[in-house]
Amino acid sequence: MLASLVPIAPDSPFPLENLPLGVFRRSSGAITVGTALGDQAVDLAELARRGAFVADGRLAETLLAGAQAGALNPLMAAGGEVRRTLRQRLQRLFSTELRDQAGVLAATLEPLAGVELMLPAVIGDYTDFYSSKHHAFNVGSMMRGPEQALQPNWVELPVGYHGRAGTVVVSGTPIRRPRGQTMKDGDARPTFGPSRRLDIELETGCFIAGETRLGETVPMAGARERIFGYALLNDWSARDIQKWEYVPLGPFLAKNFATSVSGWVVTPEALAPFEVPGEPQQPEPLEYLREPGPRGYDVTLELWLKPAGASEAVRIIESNMRHLYWSPRQQLVHHASNGCRLRSGDLLGSGTISGPEKSSRGCLLELTWGGREPVTLPDGSTRTFLEDGDEVILTGFTKGPDYRIGFGECRGTILPA
Ligand code: CA
Repeated sequence: MLASLVPIAPDSPFPLENLPLGVFRRSSGAITVGTALGDQAVDLAELARRGAFVADGRLAETLLAGAQAGALNPLMAAGGEVRRTLRQRLQRLFSTELRDQAGVLAATLEPLAGVELMLPAVIGDYTDFYSSKHHAFNVGSMMRGPEQALQPNWVELPVGYHGRAGTVVVSGTPIRRPRGQTMKDGDARPTFGPSRRLDIELETGCFIAGETRLGETVPMAGARERIFGYALLNDWSARDIQKWEYVPLGPFLAKNFATSVSGWVVTPEALAPFEVPGEPQQPEPLEYLREPGPRGYDVTLELWLKPAGASEAVRIIESNMRHLYWSPRQQLVHHASNGCRLRSGDLLGSGTISGPEKSSRGCLLELTWGGREPVTLPDGSTRTFLEDGDEVILTGFTKGPDYRIGFGECRGTILPA
């Protein structure tokens, strides 16, 4: 672990190797852009005001613009070089350069427990993919049987749909159970009322860096520079509404009532040591979608449920980012392949990430096999879908030789309809 002037506990998710980026409200009320170090939040705009980045070109003005906007978009637009410069400078500042700068440290640090994380970016557009083969196979098996579980297009392109950017919310925002049309088996007409099959989807999201013009495409060779970082994402889903409304145009009101993301965005630089080959792709993708290098990240993803009235959360799903079939770069390249414009702050959801084990199925629909195999909780009660008052917590982390990279958490509590 890199030596730090700020004490870092051995199991801290936020050592100097991580430096996730986010937006938060300080206890003073000021909104700023910052990072997490040990158990401290670091106000990067305040560091800029105190001259910490005078040797780093546009970095200071970019951070101040971010604080002004209350969003990471200016940093996302500035490109990968600026982000990497920030990382290197922070590692030097907090390992040695601020050693005798007690005044600067006092002004820029504040316990994480005292700040309020906000949505990391102004999200112009949100797209959600469907890129875990295990998930697509399981859901397809339930709907069409195992022989026709995957549609022929699934192995040729990253299937996705346009989501609702305006209802992406930061971790901690309560989620109101949606009402909608559902059709019971055997009924002649649908009914309108609260969803009875409210589900989670364990995903990650990536934020786009930089802008493409309308008509411009992104070649695979340029895709890595277009990804600013990764967050945890929960694509809340009302399965009963979805089942009735999705024909023939796909998800609509079953998905767009809320999507939660974590406040911290973990950079590709922090995750670089944890790249893995990814799932084998057969058939070989068409040329524009071929990605020669590693396609996966070894990041453990967990989903914890704190049932209404319980004092403790229980882990019900453990999966891993490595189970994605289509990588975030392939999703991005495909998204731009028709000339569709991408802008800084756009959010691409990975799709539910399920692994091969039952315990790694990334949503309740799969975990309970359509509600037929309820999950038994420690107190003996069972769950098929979410109940009012249930709290859901997503976490993500990976481990280096002597340090840990954490994503923080993405949580939400279900409110009655
Ligand atoms: Ca999804």
